[in-house]
Amino acid sequence: MNLHEFQGKELLASYGVQIQKGKVAHSVEEAVAAFKELQSETGTEFAVVKAQIHAGGRGKGGGVKLAKNMDELKEHAGNIIGMMLKTPQTPGGMEGPGKLVRKVLIAEDVYAPDFDACKEYYISILMDRERKQNVIIYSTEGGMDIEAVAEETPHLVHKEYVDPTLGLQGFQMRKVAFNLGLSGKAFKEMTKFISNLYKAFVGADASLFEINPCLKTGDDRIIAVDSKVSLDGNALFRHPDLAALRDKDEEDPAEVEAKEFGLNYVNLDGNVGCMVNGAGLAMATMDIIKLSGGEPANFLDVGGTADAERVQNAFRIILRDPKVEAILINIFGGIVRCDRVAQGVVDAYKNMGDQINVPIIVRLQGTNADIAKKLIDDSGLEVQSAILLQEAADKVKAVLTK
Ligand code: GDP
Ligand code: MN
Repeated sequence: MNLHEFQGKELLASYGVQIQKGKVAHSVEEAVAAFKELQSETGTEFAVVKAQIHAGGRGKGGGVKLAKNMDELKEHAGNIIGMMLKTPQTPGGMEGPGKLVRKVLIAEDVYAPDFDACKEYYISILMDRERKQNVIIYSTEGGMDIEAVAEETPHLVHKEYVDPTLGLQGFQMRKVAFNLGLSGKAFKEMTKFISNLYKAFVGADASLFEINPCLKTGDDRIIAVDSKVSLDGNALFRHPDLAALRDKDEEDPAEVEAKEFGLNYVNLDGNVGCMVNGAGLAMATMDIIKLSGGEPANFLDVGGTADAERVQNAFRIILRDPKVEAILINIFGGIVRCDRVAQGVVDAYKNMGDQINVPIIVRLQGTNADIAKKLIDDSGLEVQSAILLQEAADKVKAVLTK
């Protein structure tokens, strides 16, 4: 689960990480009030208006603007709230439709008073699955072009692996601060920053922290100016306070609906919808679809009890995607009997009537597969049945090339 910048910063602050302070606003009026409060609380002269969407690269798309007075603040807030913000990370990139901005963060200007003395660093923490260790990735070349830095000058990007049994050690924090070229007060501040950041990462069961830029100010303070935080969805039950931060507006509506029905659904780019029981079989089915010349439109695991209601919900979610040209249902009847699933498909199809406007191929294998095939073949519906995987793949191919 991803957090907004302002939520991520609140999480970091609760672990003692220094952050660029700010207040959320949903309208120009709220932005004005937020700026006034921020000025009295922090003494900041300027404010940064920052679009709050679940995507980075906002600065490049015009979603981050410095306001030097109240008029500029009104102008920027007015422009950014309600805009369709395109960044390299929104769906379809700079050529895509962009994402609707519903709120902005009005943040203090932490680069003042000595802008030129500021230095932007890059710091992230994530899990390296191959090494089974958390890794701190950091660079002196922080800011909006870190992707280019990683590509063109990878030697400027450093990694510090953390032994899970020992945790992050003092010498490692000092090594990071040293490699960032810091000394004196800034060096000390950076070791504290890294230490608290790592505690927050472990404490929140996060899967990604990205602080870019992490700023050294003219007076040697170290501040998180931006935060990208992803939390491990499987650990959210341990953090009800963090789970409550979920913003459904930022998620794929089909995935939100699927979650409500208890279906494991991930939207993909292809043209063949799939409905499968079991994650492993779902992966194999996606391979079959590719081999037959199609591209999977989604990953969907309906789970063990594929009854009519579940199948119907699954159909509805798959059909929300206009790219879907065919649906492949692939069920292995182990505990669940194939004839029950087949009956579910037939009932769902009958209930949904003309909402289903693409060919459906059903492959059922396992307990009572033959009864299931007969049920489908006798239903009079436009559903093609198959027992062998190859047969199913061939039928998908046939409907796609039609
Ligand atoms: P992103 O583009 O989505 O990564 O958004 P960031 O939060 O990283 O902001 C983009 C850029 O805005 C940063 O790289 C900074 O250069 C600039 N910026 C952010 N906060 C301030 C600030 O307080 N003062 C000034 N002058 N610039 C800022
Ligand atoms: Mn950033």
